[in-house]
Amino acid sequence: MRPFEYASPETEAEAADLLADHDGNTAVLAGGTDLLTLLKRDLVTPQRVVDLKTVPSLVGVTPDIDGVRIGALTPLDELQQNPLLAGYQSLLDAIDGIRSVQIQSMGTVGGDLCHLPNCWYFRSGHGLLAMENGESLVETGENRYHAILGNHGPAKFVSASRFAPGLISLGARVRIAGPGADDAETIPLEYFYITPRTERQGVTILRPGQFITHILLPSAAGIQSATYDVLASEGLDWPLVSAAAGVQVEGGLVRDCRIVLGHAAPVPWIAHEAARLLTGRPLNEETAAAAGAAAVAAATPLSRNGYKVQMAAVAVKRALLKATGQLEGGL
Ligand SMILES: Cc1cc2nc3c(=O)[nH]c(=O)nc-3n(C[C@H](O)[C@H](O)[C@H](O)COP(=O)(O)OP(=O)(O)OC[C@H]3O[C@@H](n4cnc5c(N)ncnc54)[C@H](O)[C@@H]3O)c2cc1C
Repeated sequence: MRPFEYASPETEAEAADLLADHDGNTAVLAGGTDLLTLLKRDLVTPQRVVDLKTVPSLVGVTPDIDGVRIGALTPLDELQQNPLLAGYQSLLDAIDGIRSVQIQSMGTVGGDLCHLPNCWYFRSGHGLLAMENGESLVETGENRYHAILGNHGPAKFVSASRFAPGLISLGARVRIAGPGADDAETIPLEYFYITPRTERQGVTILRPGQFITHILLPSAAGIQSATYDVLASEGLDWPLVSAAAGVQVEGGLVRDCRIVLGHAAPVPWIAHEAARLLTGRPLNEETAAAAGAAAVAAATPLSRNGYKVQMAAVAVKRALLKATGQLEGGL
């Protein structure tokens, strides 16, 4: 690990100032469950690490104008127990899927949203795009856990965020502060993620000196939601693929619907076609299966991950049935 400065601000403005120094070659420390590994392996080499745990305004869940406001530094187990989040089932399902009380008590929601890819080429120092002599190591190599959608460019990794699909299915927005002490903007969470074409672009729109302060959720009234993870085992692991669904049903027909695939593309993948197909129709086993098929119709699997296509289709179907209380017996 290389030496770095450590700073513990007490306000968001102080944090922004500290992160903007060194031309933005700084890193945010939240729960540290992943950042410490990245630092130890020299995968990130900041001149300063800014610990946000000491900024009280970034922790906790509070009512908002028409929904709730979640501080980015709120630990996962606190989210799980908070009564204000009781109606946001797709978020609660995702937290439930993390089978480790240690990670649930240390990890934060902001840390999850900004989690860098778990791609083994990236994690062993080959960079986000894993290119060597102009060729993709992923394309010709071990790609069984890589992207099946949105993988036409050089990025073949999958987005690692466990909560982004569920939060996007619920219409979440994200508040970003920095680089100036007074700078702040709020955008829909789906626009937070990018598929990089160069190493320097990163995986989110965050510019040097910026950080997530809060996640804003609209009211969950009338939305039935769920996340369905496909896991290789019952232990601590990331899903092979996941799907989140947020559905509004009126008079027995789907009025509105958001379906988002996780761990399937370099970004949380919004399945617009699947949602269009369901709108105006009843949600049942047959239409849920058709939505699953539509969600992966444009999939372009790599040499070793064709198995994920069917898995993703089934995850969408099950997320939809789970959201509307029809999963039992529908496996
Ligand atoms: C051994 C181990 C196994 C794990 N296995 C799993 C697993 O199987 N499934 C699973 O879902 N999770 C797993 N995790 C947890 C994983 O690390 C989580 O994603 C966790 O939520 C990250 O949160 P954190 O607060 O610890 O983030 P940190 O490690 O502090 O940060 C993660 C990244 O996000 C950036 N960041 C953090 N907060 C912000 C912010 N507010 N604004 C901008 N950037 C920010 C950091 O700079 C860093 O790049 C595991 C962790 C460990 C240590």
